[in-house]
Amino acid sequence: MDLFDLKGRAALVTGGNGGIGLGMAEGLARAKVAIAGRDGAKNAKPAKQHGSIAIAADITDEKACRGMVDEAAKKLGRLDILINNAGINIRKQPEQYQLAEWHRVLESNLTSAFVASQAAYPHMQRAKGGKIVNIGSMMSIFGASFVAAYGASKGGIVQLTRALATAWAKDNIQVNAVLPGWIDTALTRRARDEISGLHERVLARTPAGRWGAPEDLAGIAVFLCSSASDFVTGTAIPVDGGYAVQA
Ligand code: NDP
Repeated sequence: MDLFDLKGRAALVTGGNGGIGLGMAEGLARAKVAIAGRDGAKNAKPAKQHGSIAIAADITDEKACRGMVDEAAKKLGRLDILINNAGINIRKQPEQYQLAEWHRVLESNLTSAFVASQAAYPHMQRAKGGKIVNIGSMMSIFGASFVAAYGASKGGIVQLTRALATAWAKDNIQVNAVLPGWIDTALTRRARDEISGLHERVLARTPAGRWGAPEDLAGIAVFLCSSASDFVTGTAIPVDGGYAVQA
C-alpha cells in the first residue's frame, strides 16, 4: 500500500484559487479536488488547469459556507479531506481597529473553519474517516503589534484543531494544523508593501535563507491528508524554513 496515495479521495480546499491553498491543492495529485473562493474568475483558471471543481462561495456567510461543503461532497461524490485555508489580514495597531474589522478577520479565519468542519463532519462519518487541515500561522505562536485580530484567529485555530481532534478521533477523523512561515503570496506581497523592512527581516530570521513558496506546502498537505498520518492528530506543524526555532 502506498501510504501517501490519495487516489479515490475527495478534497475541498478553501482559498484554493491562489497562494498557499493552490500550492496545497496541487500537491493532492490523484485526489479529486474542489477549490473554493469568492472570485469566480480567479477560481476558473486553476480549476481548468488541474481539472478540479470550482465553487464560488464567501465562507463568512454561514449558509454559503455550509452550501460550499455540501456542493463539494455532491459533485465529488464523497468528502474525505477538508483544508481550511482561506484567510485574510487587516494590519493595524490594536487601538485603531474597528469592531467590524475585528469580526471580519475572526469570521474569515476562524469561524469559517469551524462552520466548514461542522458541515464536513457528516460526510466524513459516511466515508468512515476523514482529514481536516487547518491553516494557522507563525502568529499562532508569536505576537506582533499589527496582528491583534489575525493573531487571535490563528491562535484560536490551533485550539480549535485540538478540540476537533479529540472530539472526532472516534470517527477516524484526524485534525491537524499547519503553521506556514513567511510565504510569497498576494497576502504577504501586500504586507511587504505596508511594512517597511519586512522582506529583509524575514530573510535574516529564516535559517533556510529564503521566503517560502506556495509549493513548499504541498508535501505537508499530502502527508496530513493521506494514510501516512493516520496516528497524527491535534498537532500544529510549522512549515517555515526554521523561522520558529531561530533564537
Ligand atoms: P492569499 O491572499 O494569496 O489567498 C487567500 C485565499 O483565501 C484566496 O484564495 C481567497 O480567494 C480566499 N478567501 C479569502 N477570504 C475568503 C472568503 N471570505 N471566502 C472564501 N474565500 C476567501 O493568501 P495566502 O495564500 O498567503 O494565505 C492562505 C492562508 O495561509 C491564510 O489563512 C493565511 O492566513 C495563511 N498564512 C499565510 C502566510 C503567508 O506567508 N502567505 C503565512 C501564514 C499563514 P478569493 O479572493 O477568491 O475569495
